[in-house]
Amino acid sequence: MNVHEYQAKALFRQYNIPVPRGKMVHSVQEGESWTRELDSPVYVVKAQIHAGGRGKAGGVKLTKKKTEVGGLVKEMLGKVLVTHQTGPEGKEVQKVLIEEGVNIQRELYLSILIDRDTGWPTFIVSTQGGMEIEEVAAHSPEKIIKLGVDPSAGFKPFHGRVVAARLGLEKELVAPMVTFLSDLYRLFIEKGVALLEINPLVVTGEKTLIALDAKVAFDDNSLFKNWDVKEMRDLAEEDPLEVRASQYGLNYVKLDGEIGCMVNGAGLAM
Ligand code: ADP
Ligand code: MG
Repeated sequence: MNVHEYQAKALFRQYNIPVPRGKMVHSVQEGESWTRELDSPVYVVKAQIHAGGRGKAGGVKLTKKKTEVGGLVKEMLGKVLVTHQTGPEGKEVQKVLIEEGVNIQRELYLSILIDRDTGWPTFIVSTQGGMEIEEVAAHSPEKIIKLGVDPSAGFKPFHGRVVAARLGLEKELVAPMVTFLSDLYRLFIEKGVALLEINPLVVTGEKTLIALDAKVAFDDNSLFKNWDVKEMRDLAEEDPLEVRASQYGLNYVKLDGEIGCMVNGAGLAM
């Protein structure tokens, strides 16, 4: 199950993982009233859809003027956003996130997933933040660093120090990186996460770390023990046929064309 960026960031806050101040809104009015409360040199309006690549598709807008935020929200709500992850039909924007602009010094890439070969939770990091990791893997695989965590021992501070060193972080950012990864690992395990991606993870001009983007996908088999996570499901973002099938406990994967495929396991079926 996927969730929106604003929901992932709310979860990050619960685990003390630093994210920009922000709020999700459904309307221009709500957006304007939140912006009055938010004081920042730069305001960022971000389309909330279950797809990445929003920046390049016009789904992330920045302005220095508080008075322009309402207009940006108006422009974005109801728009069909086509990114390289939505397919040509695009996705309609029904919610936007308004947040403070961050003073970006460096953009890094960070994710956690289960490595299929080792079965271990594994950090994937790269200095090439802001780029698609698939693209980095294709053109400069040496810039991708993998670090597995033995689940029986759990996360240890040295994992954080190794990551900090490999990313070439300054000394003062080593301890914050250890804390950042330790909190992230705890979230990953406790909430039954299948994939967690922060792209970009930012080093700010003030020498802090902050998660600027947040993508979290949960393992459907763990939802029964995390009701708070289950409640984040946004059916409007999912394919209506898949939603109907899931109501009956069926694994159904919508494909292009006219042939449906329905068996006892989605992976097996594929
Ligand atoms: P996507 O991955 O869908 O394109 P991101 O959240 O990664 O969306 O945003 C795209 C880019 O927009 C980021 O790489 C960053 O440069 C910029 N950006 C996003 N949020 C902020 C913010 N709060 N402050 C400053 N810049 C931002
Ligand atoms: Mg991103």
